[in-house]
Amino acid sequence: MFVFVTIIFVFVAYAISIKFVYYRYSQLWPHLLNKISTPLYTVGNSNFCPTQKRSSALLRNSEDDKPSLTANETRVLIVTAHPDDECMFFAPTVLKLVESQAAVYLLCLSTGNYNNQGLQRKRELLDSCAVLGIPSDHVTIIDDKELPDDPAVEWSTALISSLILRHIRNYGISVVLTFDGRGVSGHANHIAIYKTLRHLVSAGRLPEGCQIFSLHSISLLRKYLSVLELPVSWLLPSDFCCVIGQKEYKRAKKAMLCHRSQLLWFRRLYILFSRYMFVNTFQAITVETKNVKIY
Ligand SMILES: [Zn+2]
Repeated sequence: MFVFVTIIFVFVAYAISIKFVYYRYSQLWPHLLNKISTPLYTVGNSNFCPTQKRSSALLRNSEDDKPSLTANETRVLIVTAHPDDECMFFAPTVLKLVESQAAVYLLCLSTGNYNNQGLQRKRELLDSCAVLGIPSDHVTIIDDKELPDDPAVEWSTALISSLILRHIRNYGISVVLTFDGRGVSGHANHIAIYKTLRHLVSAGRLPEGCQIFSLHSISLLRKYLSVLELPVSWLLPSDFCCVIGQKEYKRAKKAMLCHRSQLLWFRRLYILFSRYMFVNTFQAITVETKNVKIY
């Protein structure tokens, strides 16, 4: 009897702690958003001359493909490696940012052609983005033989750098979000993006004020605790955090279901149990300051 009462007590206490995190998060979200919203690009910036809308989301963006900008608008670029990364790993972030009127751009560096399904996966990605609230003219899918969907191929840092820098400049991006050094799933293509961005930061090649955040990779146990993991993420330190509730989860799930070619049984379990369907926590990538003694 005592054990039973204890279990019930722990369960209720944990449920209350999850509710509390949601409550506090809703209070703190404007502050969190404000923290990353430091638009240094304004309309009229000499490096940015918005002239015309992109004609196709499936083409590489050219210097002529520039959208119109609104002053003080937070412009966020999410850099992923494959179609489905945007909803599998970044759905809470995309949904929170879109809900907050931020302009969200997606740069997907491959067509996901590992099983020769590249064309279908491009369409699925656009469908998924439409569900998440990213317009098709904010989506760029790179189809380059030097960036295949293949963990065995080392992606060119120089090529990724030029693509990301061009996006940042063309779209006046002030915040870039991507994977961390463990790539969340450990995929080499994910890790290549992190390494490139870390290199750009340490080499000082990013426009002043452009902030980079990497998505925390977490242990397997935490990864599949679904919403139960929320209090743990809340207590651990992070530089930026996005949390969604049941209503937004349904949209994230709908976006996942757009990737029909990938809907194997384990993907359905992922939708049910992955914590990344509810929570994203990020760490800022900053220039490492070494302890230098000056005599
Ligand atoms: Zn991926």
